[in-house]
Amino acid sequence: MELPKPIYNLSDSEIERKRMIGSMGTFLLKFLTDEFIKNGYQWIMPVIFSKSTDPLWPDPGASIEKRLEAEIYGSNVKVTQSMIVHKIVACSLLYEKLFTYSPNVRIEKRERAFTGIHAYEFTQLDFEIRDAESADVIKFVESIFYKLKKVFAENYDHLPSNLENLINPPWKIFDSEKLREEFGQDWEKNVLDLNEPVWVVNIPREFYDYQDFNTGKWDNYDLYLPALGEVLSGAKREFKYSKMLEKISRDGLKEENFKVILNLAKSGKIKKCAGAGIGIERLLKWVTNVDHIGNVQIFPRIPGHVYDL
Ligand code: AMP
Ligand code: MG
Repeated sequence: MELPKPIYNLSDSEIERKRMIGSMGTFLLKFLTDEFIKNGYQWIMPVIFSKSTDPLWPDPGASIEKRLEAEIYGSNVKVTQSMIVHKIVACSLLYEKLFTYSPNVRIEKRERAFTGIHAYEFTQLDFEIRDAESADVIKFVESIFYKLKKVFAENYDHLPSNLENLINPPWKIFDSEKLREEFGQDWEKNVLDLNEPVWVVNIPREFYDYQDFNTGKWDNYDLYLPALGEVLSGAKREFKYSKMLEKISRDGLKEENFKVILNLAKSGKIKKCAGAGIGIERLLKWVTNVDHIGNVQIFPRIPGHVYDL
């Protein structure tokens, strides 16, 4: 695989290609934004610096080389890795349904340059619903993706080939524990070979995903698209103070980094909610069928490769 070039080194035909990918991106963003607004979601603006961000730990998919912090006005802040904490707080205190396009900065290990699906800056369409169960989120996502196929078919001469795999929902659901038992560490390959969208559930990961402490099972889900891999992660959320605290300590995280969500949970103000985040550049990469995610970014953000712009 050839790594995407910076915009100032592209030939005229490569610029033209980038322009076409960009206009499909506009179409995709308009479609998604309209769908969320139509379905009653409030659109909130993202944050970049905060005392609390996603620890991205423990997550079997995470590979962070460096976590960025800065000092502003005498306070230490972190650069957003995801808006999960803000999203749960805003959904609990403010809006029953919300979404944001959130810039995420994740300094991925440089060997991820060639996975084709990792960038060190990308955008999550992050949404959350109060009083929802996982099944509600799964159903909503399936309906949006299925509609996406329809609108592309209606508006483009040729349906982008990958979209043909968006079969009628409901889509298959696999338990990550069982996949691991059956196929070992490389289970993702077997899931992608199915050539249809597939949900994977019960994935051991961060403290904010709901875990049943009696069975040990996690109430969370990832969506895998064929020829891409994971495009979405989500969960029903933990809302109990004692469980959050126990998991934060179990994961070796610092309590002080999650002070606000913990205090709110302690006073019963964190509501039951569920939601997910969709990787916008990954989704656009899949729709446009380019080989590297950097090709859908006007200014590629490739792990290990820092361009001049
Ligand atoms: P996560 O919270 O890690 O599950 O991320 C949510 C979604 O963001 C994933 O399902 C991907 O679609 C996308 N994503 C995560 N990491 C990256 C990355 N390094 N580059 C591009 N997209 C990413
Ligand atoms: Mg994930």
